[in-house]
Amino acid sequence: MKFNTKAIHGGQDNIDPAYGAVMPPIYQTSTYAQNKPGAHKGFEYSRSGNPTRNALEKAIASLENANYGMAFGSGIAAIDAVLKLLKPGDEVISTNHLYGGSYRLFTKIYEDFGIQFNFVEMEDTGNIEKHITAKTKLLWVETPTNPMMNIIDIVAITKIARKHSVLLAVDNTFATPYLQNPIDLGADIVMHSATKYLGGHSDVVVGLLAVKDKTLANKLYFIQKASGAIAGPQDCFLVLRGIKTLHLRMQRHCENVKDVAEFLEKHPKVEKVFWPGLKNHPNHDVAKKQMKDFGGMVSFSTRGNKQADAEKILEKLKIFTLAESLGGVESLAGHPASMTHASIPKEEREKLGIVDSLIRLSVGLEDIEDLLEDLKQAID
Ligand SMILES: *Cc1c(COP(=O)(O)O)cnc(C)c1O
Repeated sequence: MKFNTKAIHGGQDNIDPAYGAVMPPIYQTSTYAQNKPGAHKGFEYSRSGNPTRNALEKAIASLENANYGMAFGSGIAAIDAVLKLLKPGDEVISTNHLYGGSYRLFTKIYEDFGIQFNFVEMEDTGNIEKHITAKTKLLWVETPTNPMMNIIDIVAITKIARKHSVLLAVDNTFATPYLQNPIDLGADIVMHSATKYLGGHSDVVVGLLAVKDKTLANKLYFIQKASGAIAGPQDCFLVLRGIKTLHLRMQRHCENVKDVAEFLEKHPKVEKVFWPGLKNHPNHDVAKKQMKDFGGMVSFSTRGNKQADAEKILEKLKIFTLAESLGGVESLAGHPASMTHASIPKEEREKLGIVDSLIRLSVGLEDIEDLLEDLKQAID
């Protein structure tokens, strides 16, 4: 099956043997009747398995060209499960531009458990190898990054991971499987905050993993069951429903963001635009190679770089809602320096490019004319 067909049918055979329901029913149950001890229909207790969750796990495996999927109560819970593959003394090399919650989990929880993290600038993959030691067990990559839209070359990193026999995990939340399939490029683990584009309607918090290797999958299933951060059946249903229109939504997100980026580039009050589709983006060619299109997110800074200017723009926006998160049908705007990245000291933040006037847009599916008009009146 090709992608659009898989978004609708992938992994969804034999969903409802009871009544033939076209959508997988929400199996809101904790336990399952057995005819005699051990004689059950594949499900015993909903922490270890639930038919609705199972349907979502098969769907993400199908979309990512993986063999196994796991659904968790949040994106962070999915990352937490990956980190539980490690032991005290192990080392991780991670993208320095990292989702704030991932950074917090790494440094505030797992460093206390004796795992060491090196945060490395990965846009130039030549930087990575010198940080690898005999204790390095995992490379953690996010691309495109939040909020600067940096692009990291997954194929180049795969070669490094293979050479040193370390696991490569990719946070594919911003790209979605519609635009980028890290497993096809050689990654071992793909992670998603399904809260974003996969759910797509800002109504659910869910995390997903997809892997190809059976031994690795069994370890992760064990962690999922033993640690218990599973996604509930209702939430899995909502993500399954979201996935069915992923291809259409992403196509429109990509079209709209292109017009927004081009509008911003021409606006005299805008200083810089960060979007991998622009020819002057440092890794535009890598993005072109590993992504089908350039995603639905764009950031920009304004001339003079004043936080007060950013605040004025954000207050004046009418269709773009000032809110954290991304990937829903509605357009959102955020101010990374005071919202998602406020916990990073100003000096560190500015080294990453997150200046006080930076605004991040999650460009939604409204009419493009309305979105451009809204941006124009706010920035003017
Ligand atoms: C939101 C997000 C996460 C965390 O996912 P939650 O579902 O909020 O726990 C991880 N990575 C990226 C890139 C995200 O945008």
